[in-house]
Amino acid sequence: MLTALKRIVQEVNQTPVLDDALNCLADRLKEALEVDSCSIYLADYEQQHFLLFATEGLAKSAVGQVKIGFSEGLVGLTAQREEPINISDAHHHPRFKHYPEVKEDNYHAFLGAPIIHQRKVLGVLTLQQQQKRRFSEDEEAFLVTLAMQLAVEIANAKARGSINLLQENIPKDWQKAVKGVPGSSGLAIGFGFIQNLMVNIRNHLPKRSNHTQQEIEHYRQAVKKTQEDMAILSDRVQGEVPDDVQAIFQLYHHLLDANSLGRDVEKEIKKGWDAPTSLKMVIESFIRQFQSMNDAYMRERAVDIEDMGNRVLANIIGISANEPFTREPHDQTILIAEEVTAVMLAEFPSEKLVGIISIRGSNNSHAAIMARAMGVPAVMGLDNVPIVMLRDKEILLDGYTGDVIVSPNGTIRHEFDQLILEEKLLSERIHSEDTLPALTKDNCTMSLLVNSGLSMETEVSTNPYSDGVGLFRTEIPFMMRQRFPTEQEQVELYKGLLESEPDKQFTMRTLDVGGDKPLAYFPIVEENPFLGWRGIRLTLDHPEIFLVQIRAMLRASFDLDNLSIMLPMITSVSEVSEAKRLIRQAFNEVEDEAEEKCAKLVMPQIGVMLEVPAVLYQLPQLAKIVDFFSVGSNDLTQYLLAVDRNNARVAGLYDSYHPAVLSALHSIVKTSDTLQVPVTVCGELAGEPGGVVLLVAMGYRKLSMNTHNLLKVKWIIRNIYQNEAEQLLAKVVTLNNPEDVRSEVNLFLEATGLGGLVRAGC
Ligand code: PEP
Ligand code: MG
Repeated sequence: MLTALKRIVQEVNQTPVLDDALNCLADRLKEALEVDSCSIYLADYEQQHFLLFATEGLAKSAVGQVKIGFSEGLVGLTAQREEPINISDAHHHPRFKHYPEVKEDNYHAFLGAPIIHQRKVLGVLTLQQQQKRRFSEDEEAFLVTLAMQLAVEIANAKARGSINLLQENIPKDWQKAVKGVPGSSGLAIGFGFIQNLMVNIRNHLPKRSNHTQQEIEHYRQAVKKTQEDMAILSDRVQGEVPDDVQAIFQLYHHLLDANSLGRDVEKEIKKGWDAPTSLKMVIESFIRQFQSMNDAYMRERAVDIEDMGNRVLANIIGISANEPFTREPHDQTILIAEEVTAVMLAEFPSEKLVGIISIRGSNNSHAAIMARAMGVPAVMGLDNVPIVMLRDKEILLDGYTGDVIVSPNGTIRHEFDQLILEEKLLSERIHSEDTLPALTKDNCTMSLLVNSGLSMETEVSTNPYSDGVGLFRTEIPFMMRQRFPTEQEQVELYKGLLESEPDKQFTMRTLDVGGDKPLAYFPIVEENPFLGWRGIRLTLDHPEIFLVQIRAMLRASFDLDNLSIMLPMITSVSEVSEAKRLIRQAFNEVEDEAEEKCAKLVMPQIGVMLEVPAVLYQLPQLAKIVDFFSVGSNDLTQYLLAVDRNNARVAGLYDSYHPAVLSALHSIVKTSDTLQVPVTVCGELAGEPGGVVLLVAMGYRKLSMNTHNLLKVKWIIRNIYQNEAEQLLAKVVTLNNPEDVRSEVNLFLEATGLGGLVRAGC
């Protein structure tokens, strides 16, 4: 069975477009299980019905015609029950409904399996047989396994827009809505720009074409051009490269020969595919053949074949191989990347950047935090969407909901323009009160600090309306380089910051790399990076890095008294003791230098981040050895809920409004008050409208957030009564689910006139 399953899945996966793949599946499945019919119905949620999409055994004329209502027939029943339905005589089942067009009169046995992706029924896979019998448990398990695998393919195809439920001739630029995870709030209209996109057959979207002769001609010209390029390259390296490299040129030459690759590509073109798609299909099949060879040398040639395919494709498209699509970004660019990185954002001309789409990542991955720090709307985790689909298209991006609309029609674009205008008006109102104190309506004073360090811009300036820096993330300067920064480079950076506002306190966090913040020059490969060698764990194992950084911070603080040092990812008291021992050692080392320079050097305050749940139970012990606590609610949420903050698939489960997280936060502030240890929240919750209200209610008086959110947070504080926030808190802690908490908090914000901060529009 397993071999049959693997074979079918492999064959289906190799078929580039979904309708062909589903037809292939129906055919192979019918044959493998020796049944009389196998069919696939796909759900159309707009029309509330299932459409017969592919069949082997039912009337082909019914494909695309037969529609079964969501609550009708055995197909509807399978979907409603969300489990396999196995019936020996379907005709006698009370839910049986006769559809004459499918011509199933002779079939009695019925087995249906729902096709479910992320809790949503996408379709139903059915087997039917003339003989009255129950399908075996093996057959049932086989069908369920296949349906699960199929679900992913269907979801991907849906996201690509390649399932149009058999509606042909859809215009090239039809509007398409896709959904990701909200990364940074705000709305944006711009044009998709993909940085460093290389021509790659893997990215190419299959397309049909009826212009067979023209496609063949394109293909032949591209091959000729590639052969010429190869001949030039081969001549250039003649005698300079080993024989095996020269042999690769021969392999290219041989493959490009009309009788080899050409024959197969032209065969595909004649089946109705365009030249790039035909090339993709043939090259991918070659790659698979080479990858499955026993000989290691031949296996490695798969890479060369792909390279050659890319070169031919580039020539078909009319651009030279191995060069990115070097276009000038549009004045209103939505930057798109598989994974948006700090470096990418730092390099991109900020005046042109209106939005960000990161195909990977989730709402608390560092790319999203960076986008928020820059005040640029962002959507993350568009996992199912092929990146090229967004290239050069006009895009509407809603960072509140995660909606992305590609090639919008006039009406929706107009609505968006309106919402953007309303957002601008709200922002102007918020800015008109920028100098007023952060005081609730019933006079509770809050101290607002900023998180900085994630973008180069915020590194050099604090926020004039803040009381200081509550979290300076030191990772980015490490990530922007090709090697660890020297002590002197760090001194200059930190000094610039401390001196920029000597009267404000700067809390610098020691290096917190690992997780989703890698150092290119110090790669860490781990199965579970967020549970691995991160933050203080890594730096305590490498005192040479830790000591250099601490010395740099201390040297930068000569003649100043505004440095605090914060330790990330603390799990045990012993880590703090060890870190403090090293800090003391570094202090002794720089003390001499300070004396020589007659500079004042003071021992900074030392605090820890509360982000690993274990430390919540050790606050009294920690209180004895640290000066302050700072709650990293991003990681605390991740670790309390056991949900990867970087994984879009579980983004729905990552929620700081989870009652357990709120309880933990509440208990931290109460215990810290009792222990008389100052406590700040520096995770994203502190810059989020509802989060601010709940944190004020719990008793937090110091919040640290990205600079872009500071005035918004002040606006919220100035518009609420602390006692009303406390009533809200009392209510939400009795709720069971994060969703219930969110809707209660949103109701509160709406009632307080703050709704425009959590959704588009006033
Ligand atoms: C946190 O975990 O809440 C935090 C502030 O640190 P980071 O987001 O950098 O992990
Ligand atoms: Mg953290």
